[in-house]
Amino acid sequence: MYDVVISGAGPAGSRCAQVIAEKGYKVALIERDANWRKPCGGAVSSRIFKYYPQLRTQNFHRISGTAIYSGDYHKIEYPWKDIKNYSINVDRLEFDNFIRNIAIDAGAQLFDKNLATDFITKDNKRIGIKTRTPEGTKEYFGRILVIADGMSSRLALKTGLRNKWQIEEIGLAKCAIMEGENNLDKDIISFFFRKYKGYGWIFPLGEKRFNIGCGTWLEGNLKKNLNQAYHEFINEPFIKKFFPKAEYKEIWEGSYPLPALGVKEECLYGDNVLIIGDAAGFVSPISGEGIHSSVVSGNAAGEIACDALTHGDVSSQSLKKYKQYPNIKKIIRNFKIKVSIVEFLFENEGQNLSKMLELAERDDSVREEIISMFLSNSPPSKELLLRIKS
Ligand SMILES: Cc1cc2nc3c(=O)[nH]c(=O)nc-3n(C[C@H](O)[C@H](O)[C@H](O)COP(=O)(O)OP(=O)(O)OC[C@H]3O[C@@H](n4cnc5c(N)ncnc54)[C@H](O)[C@@H]3O)c2cc1C
Repeated sequence: MYDVVISGAGPAGSRCAQVIAEKGYKVALIERDANWRKPCGGAVSSRIFKYYPQLRTQNFHRISGTAIYSGDYHKIEYPWKDIKNYSINVDRLEFDNFIRNIAIDAGAQLFDKNLATDFITKDNKRIGIKTRTPEGTKEYFGRILVIADGMSSRLALKTGLRNKWQIEEIGLAKCAIMEGENNLDKDIISFFFRKYKGYGWIFPLGEKRFNIGCGTWLEGNLKKNLNQAYHEFINEPFIKKFFPKAEYKEIWEGSYPLPALGVKEECLYGDNVLIIGDAAGFVSPISGEGIHSSVVSGNAAGEIACDALTHGDVSSQSLKKYKQYPNIKKIIRNFKIKVSIVEFLFENEGQNLSKMLELAERDDSVREEIISMFLSNSPPSKELLLRIKS
């Protein structure tokens, strides 16, 4: 019998397991495949160092600025103000195993090659998680069950706390890690917004290696085929300029969905169950950044689970503190602001964003406003909206 059983050892599950194990509780961390590389751009903001100071000593590629392009290639570029706040670009296979090992070192027990398939129930109560392994079915019993198995979580649906994602509330993205000589600025990550709801990205991973990808969002999923969007993006003359060679070595390629409309507030907790990370929608609606917020949700859920175990009360009444946790409330609030900005950015086939970046190229105050919109979630001012519409 475990105190906590966690399904999914991605960033959310691993952080949650670490926090609980560090407090001396017994944790089972169930993972389908620790050798799976999650399809992801791998851009991680400096805020992650608060949770994982160890990452600073690792050899992950450092980034010190961002460039944003509109669909017709107006551009805004901004360096981070404080160079110590560099962010990192990571290969997810390496990154996930690095933070997973921190959880194991803290005392969590990892059960790899275990596919969580269902809850074990008794007297209508969830008492554990059932898995399928190469050796057959296994059962893990726990006082609290944490669902951290990502966007396609079956268990999240089986809690009855939330419905299946609708196609209009997700993003679909395809990306690859490629290698070869290129003309990229290795210090910056670049986002290329599209005329449809979606964007492409190029994130350097070193002198020759880079992560390149493209996604469609919300109704964009219905209007644009993902493979076609990706193919068009990587073959665009503007993008090709960064890649003068005829051939690039593809190290890896993958596609995956991601939540696009922020946190599913109604599904975060129930009697002896918590849902964290992508499974609960912890992905930033404009940038698609979800590694940091998943870690924050794992951290908060871990602390609330320990508190509930200490007080011997694992009811939903006790676990609702997870939703009330200050950092979780902040994420929910920020993501709501971002959702309102998304509609504005993509209106008129991306013309608003295009006009905004065009204005920023000429006017420093607009530039500052846009930077703070992307970095600090401040919605555009009425003055800027009027100038864009005029
Ligand atoms: C193409 C793409 C690009 C992205 N780019 C970025 C980016 O650049 N920066 C960023 O911050 N975010 C990015 N994101 C979002 C980011 O990948 C996620 O928000 C983040 O990985 C969520 O972490 P998680 O732990 O909740 O879920 P996941 O990372 O999905 O981890 C879930 C874990 O559960 C395991 N699992 C799944 N099902 C089961 C099961 N039934 N039983 C047991 N284990 C299971 C999986 O193997 C995995 O290890 C991107 C997403 C996509 C799809």
